[in-house]
Amino acid sequence: MGLAEVISLSEVRASSQWQRLRDDLHMRFDQWLDRLQEPLPNPHTSLAEVTEAVWQLRQELTGGLSETIVAHAHSGELTRQYARCPQCDRRLTARPVVSRTVQTLVGPVQVERPYFYCTSGCGGIYPFDRALALAPGRTQLDVQQAAAQVAIEMPYEEAQTLFSDLTGVALGSERLHTFVHQAAEGLTVLDVAPSRDEIARRIEEMATGRLRRPVLVLGIDGAYVPTRPESARERQSGQRHSRARRASWHGQWRDAKGFRFSLIDDERIVHLLSWHQVQNEEQLGEALEQVKEAGLIPQDQVRLCVVCDGASWIWKHVQALFPRARQVLDYYHCKEYLHKVAKVQYASSERALEWVEATLTRLYLGKVGWVLGGLRRMQPASEEARKAIDNCWVYLQNHRDRTPYGKWRRGGYPIGSGGIESSNKCICHVRLKRSGAWWYECNGNEMLALRCAKYNGTFDRVFERHRQRLREA
Ligand SMILES: [Zn+2]
Repeated sequence: MGLAEVISLSEVRASSQWQRLRDDLHMRFDQWLDRLQEPLPNPHTSLAEVTEAVWQLRQELTGGLSETIVAHAHSGELTRQYARCPQCDRRLTARPVVSRTVQTLVGPVQVERPYFYCTSGCGGIYPFDRALALAPGRTQLDVQQAAAQVAIEMPYEEAQTLFSDLTGVALGSERLHTFVHQAAEGLTVLDVAPSRDEIARRIEEMATGRLRRPVLVLGIDGAYVPTRPESARERQSGQRHSRARRASWHGQWRDAKGFRFSLIDDERIVHLLSWHQVQNEEQLGEALEQVKEAGLIPQDQVRLCVVCDGASWIWKHVQALFPRARQVLDYYHCKEYLHKVAKVQYASSERALEWVEATLTRLYLGKVGWVLGGLRRMQPASEEARKAIDNCWVYLQNHRDRTPYGKWRRGGYPIGSGGIESSNKCICHVRLKRSGAWWYECNGNEMLALRCAKYNGTFDRVFERHRQRLREA
């Protein structure tokens, strides 16, 4: 007897099981065809009418097929007679089945599963729900994740309409708020950061075929986002019809402080990791430290470079955490600073421009010492100019090693902080700065965390964490 003719018993079982499932699925499909027949009476119907009819009924079909598969896969659970109480380990006897319908992306799925109740005060359980890893509530996580993906792109009302139109799954915008909140609750920078391996892979890709290690740029900056105070949650006093329509609270623009790591070469930027939150300097420093401590940035594989504006809190963190990094004072920020000085010192705008250009050229050539000396020798045109010149001297003195722009350029380092600015725009402004939108700090931060996850490529992982947490709860 040849090997090919030997068919194991388990294969026979598997194939006959599969055959039974197929039969049931066919039956289900037949039932669906009966439903489809009604809206399609006309033999000359257009394609649009056909697809419309199928579209309207498609969730019934795909949901129904899923229902049949689930019932087959878990037939043991559905006919289960006994279960152990998870708390006191008592043996419980099945009570009558209870029907439950859950919403998934492929349609509603109904399950009729036995109920077990522990009379020792432990309460009731559905072992089937656990076996199937059902999320609590009607809406399952596939729907929640897809809906959150839309909600992080546009205002909730708009997201809700678009999501319902495109998926055929109706959701209230309140639910959307809840899903976003539940998935994003407590997210930290490490939850949304790509793994060490993933970062190493992106670096390796960039390094292939090059003699020098790739430049990895760290940018740190703040972006103003509109927030509302917690007190806005309180109900307004007075009669509904008589109270003022305008809000009783004042919105406030607050700094969403963030950082971004990206790889750069002549032609392209490869994003690695962004983290933005409405937070103070210490919190930003802590987040940056977590990234460093987790070993996410392989400093020996890259040439690390930090490009930032002149804010001292930023450089304090850089010095403490990445002292070996190349430090660059953002060229455009520096230029703006020089312009302000020139404006108060020179009456003619031509002279002012000349001075700024000459100063930038000197910095570019690495002659910051000359510039500092020149500032010392400058005769202030006014008291205001004297102050500006003094401040400028301090500013350049503080950043004197961060301004040899020509040298950085030749080394392949960026001299402008465009990387973090585009992160500010794409992650913070695009979603949070909408007309009429004022965010509670915690809601704004949850939204920012999810948007960071999206750009960091970890959105799926965030939902896996959510799934895990639900399971543990
Ligand atoms: Zn019990």
